[in-house]
Amino acid sequence: MAAPTFERIQAPKKGTRVTVDADGRWLIPDDPIVCLLRGDGIGRDVGSTPGITTCAVRVLDAAVEKVYQGKRKIHWFDIHAGDAARELYCPQIKDETVKTLSEDDQRKLYLPDDSLKAFEYYSLGLKGPLTTPIGGGFRSINVYLRIKFDLYACVRPVRYFKGVEAPNKHAGKVNMVIFRENTEDVYCGIEFRSNSDKAKRVIALLSVTLMHKGNIMKFTEGAFKDWGYEVARDEFRQQTVSEDEVAKGTSPKGKVVIKDRIADSMFQQIQLRPDEYSVVATPNLNGDYISDAAAALTGGLGLAAGANIGDKAAMFEATHGTAPKYTGKNMANPGAVLLSGVLLLEHLGWQEAAQRVNTALEAAFAESEATAGKGPGGKLHVTYDIARQFAGYGAEAGATSSAFADRIIYHLK
Ligand code: NAP
Repeated sequence: MAAPTFERIQAPKKGTRVTVDADGRWLIPDDPIVCLLRGDGIGRDVGSTPGITTCAVRVLDAAVEKVYQGKRKIHWFDIHAGDAARELYCPQIKDETVKTLSEDDQRKLYLPDDSLKAFEYYSLGLKGPLTTPIGGGFRSINVYLRIKFDLYACVRPVRYFKGVEAPNKHAGKVNMVIFRENTEDVYCGIEFRSNSDKAKRVIALLSVTLMHKGNIMKFTEGAFKDWGYEVARDEFRQQTVSEDEVAKGTSPKGKVVIKDRIADSMFQQIQLRPDEYSVVATPNLNGDYISDAAAALTGGLGLAAGANIGDKAAMFEATHGTAPKYTGKNMANPGAVLLSGVLLLEHLGWQEAAQRVNTALEAAFAESEATAGKGPGGKLHVTYDIARQFAGYGAEAGATSSAFADRIIYHLK
């Protein structure tokens, strides 16, 4: 594929393109170029005030530098979507004329061809939240990207971080990955390389739950459940066992247990018995709901990361939105964008850097919890949303987004 030419953006002068070979393997150089969509609202920089995407990128760069000491580096390619794109590409278009434009011209306002060409060519992206444009034709930049690039797997890991006040007393037991089908409503795909260490570890630990509403929606959600069991039986017979077979006496030792749950019951299950669910595979709409509910169990959306992954492209993005009232205030929690960046590092195969960020984030939460535990008035290093959960502290005790990022960088040591 020839390198595209762009109207208003310039690819980084340094760095190498990530590619996918004919067998579907991602070929990752030590200096990958990754597209960066900073986003709207809290995602954007406003003047010299950084948004959460800038804060998160600073931590990711610091972790990569710390771990690989210059041997590896991400070269970010700033591309545009949302309000930033409209301001750059079409400043002359007034709000009142937007609805007179064709659907494709509305799309170009918020998602210019430059950005599509860049993402298609460079294959990887990290994205801040984007406002969903209001109005008739073009409905959502996020949905458009997922469908255009067939980013069919929405992967949303949810885990508890010690030091974050969570509403559920079993929050410490929450450690699950929700695989939400991302481009239609009847699709399931989970795989690990056969016999790899990772696959063996996963097999020893997991039980996969197919979440569906097949009792009512028999030909769509019911079929999704049946196909899930079929895939397990026909392609992974040696590695899996169904819950039914276990009930009839087959030993589950060393195997992935496949079970299914009706969607409504799943909402109680994750609250009452979260440790019984490691991987949840579910159609699109169920996945949207259950991943927000699971994130809430562990303390909210400020830390909910996500990835939209296809065979030839992947976009990493936080679950939360643009929280417009905090725009330009340097207040919002950069944690979810940062953890989405951790998923990007894992996708690159840079596990050491990913682990380093996780550990530093845990340390940053733990120290503020310890400070708050000594009573009110201590100096916290976490943002307002975490600070206000500590007894005797309010939102005003929170650190700025950039100070929180600095503190995570401090703990990268
Ligand atoms: P939202 O932006 O997620 O914000 C809702 C509330 O969640 C905020 O007011 C804030 O709570 C909390 N919050 C969200 N992100 C946070 C962060 N990083 N740090 C701390 N607190 C955070 O939801 P919304 O207000 O419904 O949506 C606003 C816009 O975002 C809409 O245009 C929507 O379409 C868009 N959106 C985009 C995406 C995406 O790009 N993937 C996803 C969802 C929504 P408090 O008020 O309690 O402090």
